[in-house]
Amino acid sequence: MALLRSTVRSRYAPNPPISINFYLEDSMNTNSVGSVFSLSLEQRNYYTEERLHPKEPCPQSNWGCSSHTGFLAPDEDLLECCKADRQTLNERKVTYETIAKRLVEICNIGAKVGPNQLIEGKFKVGSKGPYNNYQFCPFTTSSDEMASPFAPIPNACGRGRGDFTIANVVSGRSIEFSDLLTHMIFDHHFFEGRVSHRLDPINIIETLELIPDPNFIEYEIVS
Ligand SMILES: [Zn+2]
Repeated sequence: MALLRSTVRSRYAPNPPISINFYLEDSMNTNSVGSVFSLSLEQRNYYTEERLHPKEPCPQSNWGCSSHTGFLAPDEDLLECCKADRQTLNERKVTYETIAKRLVEICNIGAKVGPNQLIEGKFKVGSKGPYNNYQFCPFTTSSDEMASPFAPIPNACGRGRGDFTIANVVSGRSIEFSDLLTHMIFDHHFFEGRVSHRLDPINIIETLELIPDPNFIEYEIVS
């Protein structure tokens, strides 16, 4: 039984809202490649080809980090995808860290006040999960390709088991994302590619009404 990302999502258990604080603790783990822009060419090929594209069930091994729906579309290049998002952040003068921390902050307030309670006069948070199984971060350097997809990966740099929605009831905009995505934004500067779980940074910035940082230092666009 291979890991099917959609299957993981369907394993919904009607539990109380969960906190996603742990992702920040996980981000302290050094077992991570860091930003995708720090990847060597070999690493980039590895993560692009083996980890991030949709994977069919493999008869001999279940990839602990694989995803049936993928983190990138089959024809999509990791760096090209990330360059476009980086350009968006440069234009909006908002950092990856600001985005990830704000997502976590609003969700954690939502977990405390309860579902569909108004936060800061405009946001409402909904959650699904925790699911029975974790989705592990595909950028974990120690993950074992032969491991069961449902077995814990030692020292995973990030993991997710819940989905969240943040609705801005004033503007009518809303976003949906997994707790794993907040880790990938924070630690790897990755919003996912042209796949169903992608969260476009423009949608986040506009839904959360993030304003330009006056001290923003433009990200280098790697060629
Ligand atoms: Zn990670």
